Amino acid sequence: MSEKPVCHRCGYMGPEDALYCAHCGRALVPLGIRLTRSINLILSNLSPFHIGFLGLVISVAISAFAAHLVVMELSFPLSLVPLALVIGCGYAYLGWQWNELLTNRSRLVRILLVYVCIGLCLGAVWLVDRRLLSLLSDRSHMVVYEIPGVYRESSSTIRHMSVESGILLPYGLVVMAYCVMIAIAGFLVHRASKRQSK
Ligand SMILES: [Zn+2]
Repeated sequence: MSEKPVCHRCGYMGPEDALYCAHCGRALVPLGIRLTRSINLILSNLSPFHIGFLGLVISVAISAFAAHLVVMELSFPLSLVPLALVIGCGYAYLGWQWNELLTNRSRLVRILLVYVCIGLCLGAVWLVDRRLLSLLSDRSHMVVYEIPGVYRESSSTIRHMSVESGILLPYGLVVMAYCVMIAIAGFLVHRASKRQSK
């Protein structure tokens, strides 16, 4: 049995599972624990269909974000390498030992965790790219970034860009196809390594 939480503001003693003080409304448990509890509560009510649907929605969002970075934001072609690695590793890990995750909830937690990490790492790639741009260029020195449909010259202060209209969707599709390929490759590698170890 856990102890009854005591409010630090007014001294009111709540029931064991209380998250907030019934007297003054102050939070009784730290934010992290409250978040975990509410996430677990939401996830335990989801069916496999909803899990799959949520995964699809997030994967489209991640693809759109990656395509946006590739077409609109990145300044160095070299930044495409960490971007591809982040997405590739994320999706390869997604299916890693999937069958050993016994509950749908742990699978969903894995999906969400992987997507959040991919999103954060893509953000980090973007920040590093920007930082490099401001470090390596000044007004007089423009960095040129060129991929099919996109031509961009940028310095720390100026940016000239020409983007073919409608290019964002094809790049989004390329990223999604790449994700699927990596996920399948990760699955095959995992199967092969499992067979080897038997
Ligand atoms: Zn209180």
